[in-house]
Amino acid sequence: MVSGKTTLITGSTSGIGLEMAREFAREGADIVLNGLGDPAEIEATRAGLAEEFSVKVAYDGANMLNPDDIAGMIDRVEADFGGLDILINNAGIQYVAPIEDFPVDKWDAIIGINQSAAFHTIRAAVPGMKKRKWGRIINTASAHALVASPFKSAYVSAKHAIAGLTKTIALETATFGITVNAIAPGYVWTPLVEKQIPDTAKARGMTEEQVKHDVLLEAQPTKEFVTVEEIAGLALFLCSDQARSITGVTIPVDGGWTAH
Ligand code: NAD
Repeated sequence: MVSGKTTLITGSTSGIGLEMAREFAREGADIVLNGLGDPAEIEATRAGLAEEFSVKVAYDGANMLNPDDIAGMIDRVEADFGGLDILINNAGIQYVAPIEDFPVDKWDAIIGINQSAAFHTIRAAVPGMKKRKWGRIINTASAHALVASPFKSAYVSAKHAIAGLTKTIALETATFGITVNAIAPGYVWTPLVEKQIPDTAKARGMTEEQVKHDVLLEAQPTKEFVTVEEIAGLALFLCSDQARSITGVTIPVDGGWTAH
């Protein structure tokens, strides 16, 4: 399904992106990792994936806040792998605060990493995909692409924008064998979620334990966190031939959250 396909996953040094890298490598895809982190740990991940699954794995440290870095990364992938087949825009950060206290630099960073970076990667990747008449673009959106929660103004804005970008590029690329979709996870237990608990507790005047049960799991009718494996599994399906008519949609994987 993805064997031999070059797959770039932004924000794949942790959480959902890292699991996607594992699952795509297991299926034989060549992988380009990207994201922040300790260089020695990243190299261990890179070498480990390459050895375990006998695929080519590279790491590119492009900062998703820097459009030149992003353009350079796509150029390097095209040159080193002979083309980019699958692009997964997954890098993201979160910040939780009431609007009147929301730091301007946090707004700019969230819009930059969670929203504008996807514009820059897609803009650079689409010409090669069009030329080769095949491509898969998957954007990790969020349930917050479909509904809002208080105190997450930047994140909700960026994720709603990703849903719009997904539709627009799907229309522009539909006759070129390219599909563009977004996955909208509910709460997945990763560092991104863990780190927002203290600020959410502060903003809502709750304990951290109350936030976990009365805010996060309360949103999801299943009362369970979504798993990284479930998100990676859908990403793989979206890259298959059976999914070639699925384009321009934002698919919730949220334990029923957005059915409310
Ligand atoms: P995570 O913190 O585990 O991973 C985030 C990744 O983004 C890391 O690899 C990090 O290094 C990278 N990143 C952050 N800033 C970057 C920058 N400037 N340049 C390059 N890379 C950068 O979090 P996660 O939960 O795995 O999040 C992955 C995606 O899933 C995000 O887009 C997030 O919004 C989305 N998401 C997560 C959840 C959840 O509950 N965890 C729910 C819905 C959507």
